[in-house]
Amino acid sequence: MRAVIELKVKPKYRANYKNNYPLINKDAILNPEVLEREGDILHLVGENNQFFAKGYYGEQNKGIGWVLTHKKEEQIDFTFFKTKMVEAINKRQVFYEDKNTNAFRVFNGEGDGIGGLTIDYFAGFYLINWYSAGVYTFKDQVIRVLDDHVQYQAIYEKKRFDTKGTYMDDDDFVKGTRGEFPVIVKENGVNYAVYLNDGAMVGIFLDQRDVREAIRVKYAKGKKVLNTFSYTGAFSVAAALGGAKKTTSVDLAKRSKRKTAEQFSINGIADNKQDTIVMDVFDYFKYARRHNMKFDMVILDPPSFARSKKRTFRVAKDYPALIKDTISITEKNGIIIASTNNASLDMKKFRGFVANAFREMGEKYNILEEFSLPKDFHVDRNFPHGNYLKVLVVKKVD
Ligand code: SAH
Repeated sequence: MRAVIELKVKPKYRANYKNNYPLINKDAILNPEVLEREGDILHLVGENNQFFAKGYYGEQNKGIGWVLTHKKEEQIDFTFFKTKMVEAINKRQVFYEDKNTNAFRVFNGEGDGIGGLTIDYFAGFYLINWYSAGVYTFKDQVIRVLDDHVQYQAIYEKKRFDTKGTYMDDDDFVKGTRGEFPVIVKENGVNYAVYLNDGAMVGIFLDQRDVREAIRVKYAKGKKVLNTFSYTGAFSVAAALGGAKKTTSVDLAKRSKRKTAEQFSINGIADNKQDTIVMDVFDYFKYARRHNMKFDMVILDPPSFARSKKRTFRVAKDYPALIKDTISITEKNGIIIASTNNASLDMKKFRGFVANAFREMGEKYNILEEFSLPKDFHVDRNFPHGNYLKVLVVKKVD
């Protein structure tokens, strides 16, 4: 049985919870010492136990749980999960019906009413991400809704809640018929190889779908493309299919060579015009400058935080230098695609990074286009932090 815990909200945070702010922060609570077991139901109350909201206890790096409802009488039971999940599934009907795309997000955490839970669809497979031990206690309900309302070959899961809040290595199979990986998914007609039982990352980041499409359709033609932090080379594949003259993918991880070759091969692209280089991006920039190499398009999509043998990369601290390095190896009239998934860096600040970098380099630019999360990544308008993706398409001009 779940206990019901009353959490008293500090006066200055009460307005937030009255106004539908979904994340429960420890800082906002007067009596966090009463928290006991993850998955317990939390009632957020004010003075005289005035009810504001109801949620669950689940420790994440972001907070200690999520608000689920503002109705005091609403139970957090199977019907609750069914209502939220069916609503989310219905909102994705255009994706389910799209013949050219069969990989998309079905449920996006607080954006669909349940923080800490995401569900992605990959060509007949569902992948559930659990972001806390608390939300994991609702597993039976979530699986039952999938059983009742969608068809699948199998369900997989990622438990992203070890003590450091990261992925726990495990057999990620939940139920159904085990897949044979890679599963080849389609995105706007492009193939991508996906592995659902091989660690935290599956081979493709669905939130960049619109950016890959723009690269392929609008920006890549005839260009010499450098894709940094390239992972499995998804942006390089999009560029090559869009008619790029050549792509160079740079990633520190050794696996990137084999993974990128696979993405090219399942799209029938010969790899004689595609390079994959296993190297620290910062070293590659030095190398490129030393050899006077220039590119017509450079894609920058670093992780928010990464530790390598030599250095620790933090977006807020290191992105400006990254853009400056990029400017120095981009041709005049070349394009820089700058992306960040750092929630605490908003678009205005990110644009500021670009502006400063160009000013310091004595170069001019235009912003051609901006992207944020695609339609299937619903954002809760009361939680702008959830709108974490920011992408700028920048042209270096005379
Ligand atoms: N842009 C990719 C996703 C990047 S994931 C895509 O759209 O699919 C982040 C990648 O950055 C990982 O593959 C990691 O190995 C790589 N990485 C982290 N630090 C790096 C560094 N200093 N140099 C090169 N690659 C790095």
